[in-house]
Amino acid sequence: MPTALKSYLNGKWVEGNQSPATLVNPSTEEVVATASTAGLDFAAAARFGREKGGAALRELSFAQRGEILRKLAKLVIDAREELIGLGISNAGNTRSDAKFDIDGASGTLNFYADLGTKLGDAKVMADGEGVPMGRSARLYGQHVLVPRTGVAVHINAFNFPAWGMGEKLAVALLAGMPIISKPATSTALMAWRIAELWANSGALPEGAFQFVCGSTGDLLSHLGAQDVLAFTGSSDTGLMLRRQENLLKDSVHVNVEADSLNSALLGPDGSAGSEVWNMFLTDVTKEMTQKTGQKCTAVRRIYVPADRLDEVRDELVARLKDVRVGNPADEKVTMGPVATAQQLRDVRAGIEKIALGAEVACGGAKPVEGQAKGFFVSPTLLVRKGPKIDDVTNKHEVFGPVATLMPYASPRELVALVAAGGGGLVSSVYSDDKAWLNETVGGIAPWFGRLTISGEKVSGQTIPPGTVMPSMLHGGPGRAGGGEELGGLRGMSLYMQRVGLQGPRPFVEAFAGVKSQAAS
Ligand code: NAP
Repeated sequence: MPTALKSYLNGKWVEGNQSPATLVNPSTEEVVATASTAGLDFAAAARFGREKGGAALRELSFAQRGEILRKLAKLVIDAREELIGLGISNAGNTRSDAKFDIDGASGTLNFYADLGTKLGDAKVMADGEGVPMGRSARLYGQHVLVPRTGVAVHINAFNFPAWGMGEKLAVALLAGMPIISKPATSTALMAWRIAELWANSGALPEGAFQFVCGSTGDLLSHLGAQDVLAFTGSSDTGLMLRRQENLLKDSVHVNVEADSLNSALLGPDGSAGSEVWNMFLTDVTKEMTQKTGQKCTAVRRIYVPADRLDEVRDELVARLKDVRVGNPADEKVTMGPVATAQQLRDVRAGIEKIALGAEVACGGAKPVEGQAKGFFVSPTLLVRKGPKIDDVTNKHEVFGPVATLMPYASPRELVALVAAGGGGLVSSVYSDDKAWLNETVGGIAPWFGRLTISGEKVSGQTIPPGTVMPSMLHGGPGRAGGGEELGGLRGMSLYMQRVGLQGPRPFVEAFAGVKSQAAS
């Protein structure tokens, strides 16, 4: 019998009473679990979070909240082997893909635990410098961040059940807000097990953490002015959620992390065999195939100087042909299936769409040889020789191991093509040519939440562009949802109200926890 996954609401593990969704093993199509939330009381859960969890968290200092995060990280680390197994069986992860997800979660939790230690005994945070407001030094202004008194609902995409849940939770709890976390149903098994470890550990104050396994039912209709909705998923779902009337009417704080047509750019100095060339090819191959290309930060568009197009194509095809596609329960396999039957249909349809007017250099939409069952797709490289602003490549995200290689003639043309993606999470730039870097980075920077620059000086130290670090921003403008997460303390402002305090300097400074510089 597949496990019936429960939700953790109002301090209890509860199960819906009808129409369960099924979770399958994407390599074998066997059902591994079911989940239903029908009939659960979400209005009570939102109240429970606000009244019990919020009140308890706000009593704690940043350092104490940080210690909770440290305990949660340890629970994930201690269960790593078991969680890897769940990533293989329910998400089609290779061991390495599953570790990436799990270690991302524990690493981010520990990073925010350390920030909590640094923030110490305070419960609110000063924002920037204070300013004298009047003729005498006594009237003083200081911006302060205080925790919102609502509940934060976290909705995550299917591709990072552990990391997605951990990163959002870490920031919200440190800020002092209780959460209700919902993983995507199709790959919820790993998130559910982590939720079970956390909820049953006694590490969390009552009401600080609730977990929804399945649909959110009418939960979002109960959100109001002090609540937060942090969503990660497709642009279409993000748009639909944003439009919900009560969210608009009550100005609920909404953060959306959505699609992205990330790009990798090779500079003019990236000639065959150079350090820059090797870094570029290694990153592009990894970003196309890690997690079977189901990463919001995966490279979708590859731009190279026009005279290097054929060389790069041949090199990438050779590397992608080495990828072993199959059931990741077999350790020789280096790329698993996509997560669901719907994903497979979408990826195949997407390849056909962006292949119009392009050459299929390897892979394609056809079934993978030797795989009778499972949602397998081959790593696919398309080559578009005359890229244009209004190409489908700049409009449609294929959420799988698929990218398009294109030439550029000048930095100016390159900037226009990259910007045509409408805003993204990350772009990676490979060059040591300062003039080219200045023009390109300057041109594309307004279109991305993060840019990575790789060249000889940082050779051997770079982090692949698709790896989201808690110290740097994650999010992006336009198509990417316009959101911002992580970025160290920056991410906490979603969960905190910024208030400008104007008044007697001693009170303002004491409230904000700022050491007074005023002459007595
Ligand atoms: P999705 O279909 O939009 O689903 C995302 C989440 O929204 C899931 O938890 C889903 O729950 C939930 N959801 C769907 N309809 C809802 C509704 N009416 N009310 C409340 N929740 C609802 O996206 P996905 O297929 O899981 O993820 C793939 C997409 O996410 C890709 O486009 C990718 O680019 C994007 N993504 C972006 C980031 C980022 O950080 N920017 C990260 C990862 C993925 P159910 O599963 O229960 O339907």
